[in-house]
Amino acid sequence: MRLLVTGGAGFIGSNFIRYILEKHPDWEVINLDKLGYGSNLANLKDIEDDERYTFVKGNINDFELVSKLIKEVDAVINFAAESHVDRSISNPHAFIESNVLGVYTVLEAIRKVNPEVRLVHVSTDEVYGDIEEGSFTEEDRLMPSSPYSASKAAGDMLVLGHARTYNLNASITRCTNNYGPYQFPEKLIPKTIIRANMGLKIPIYGTGQNVRDWLYVEDHVRAIEAVLEKGERREVYNISAGDEKTNLEVVKTILRLMDKDEELIEFVEDRPGHDLRYSLNSWKITRDLKWRPKHSFDEGIKKTVEWYLNNGWWWKPLIDEKVLHPTPWKLRW
Ligand code: NAD
Repeated sequence: MRLLVTGGAGFIGSNFIRYILEKHPDWEVINLDKLGYGSNLANLKDIEDDERYTFVKGNINDFELVSKLIKEVDAVINFAAESHVDRSISNPHAFIESNVLGVYTVLEAIRKVNPEVRLVHVSTDEVYGDIEEGSFTEEDRLMPSSPYSASKAAGDMLVLGHARTYNLNASITRCTNNYGPYQFPEKLIPKTIIRANMGLKIPIYGTGQNVRDWLYVEDHVRAIEAVLEKGERREVYNISAGDEKTNLEVVKTILRLMDKDEELIEFVEDRPGHDLRYSLNSWKITRDLKWRPKHSFDEGIKKTVEWYLNNGWWWKPLIDEKVLHPTPWKLRW
């Protein structure tokens, strides 16, 4: 099997590539990434010399390039996206380019040059919006709350429309918040570990009662593998570990694991439109594809804290005032 992985120099894509090359000795991977601000080829340093791996620097909006690569592969896994909600508040345009027009370009290339290719499009729980009680299923309506989630929802709609009209072999995955090694330091968990390690205050939006459903990245990449191999055409699969925590609980857990004082916590002005609670029902992928998460939050967060503490070489070159800013949505990017 030859895979084209887009956005493979980012957090989840790089974890996916490493996992796939380890698990499938006869598979090959082409990684197409524009190398945006949050990507980092150091994420894949340990496999860069593997002859089954090729890196191509480029944009998913480049129709010629994407078409050429799609001709050469059996499957496309589309991770490429602008991914930070805070940045989408001050600069939505970049999100429309990658998450809407980029998806459209990939779909057009597939239908024109290799309509039999398998496509797994990686989306997010944020397309459903927030939910006070219960959990969203794949049948629920999309009600995004930010320019980021709106752009992801638009991408999903394009995939469904092309899959039906042109009979493409496409599935969509919608996962909850990921955490684990190689996550860019601007996101809640790495930012908390890094700021605590540096003895800096830990900013929490509002009162810290926003609930997220946390998924260890390795469990997520196994779920994508299951959808790639066994998922049905035009089906959507929710992916969640059902590990719901408030942001305050997450930060307190990290501080406890690092033996740091809760006095470091500082409540800061909330992000506009901040979703209160995300929760997914992922019974479908468990029932149909036999996927289950292997890590509880307690196990995953322990591994994650240890990874960041042992890998300062990876995150130290990435941090600056903007990346560690307490309220990044107020910045101009
Ligand atoms: P990330 O920002 O770490 O990685 C995204 C990668 O895509 C980057 O390397 C970037 O350079 C690349 N990229 C962006 N636009 C591109 C373009 N136009 N052409 C080529 N490359 C481009 O993000 P991530 O956290 O790894 O997320 C990967 C996917 O998973 C995204 O689609 C995101 O929406 C989705 N997702 C992430 C989470 C999470 O918790 N991280 C949760 C749900 C869904």
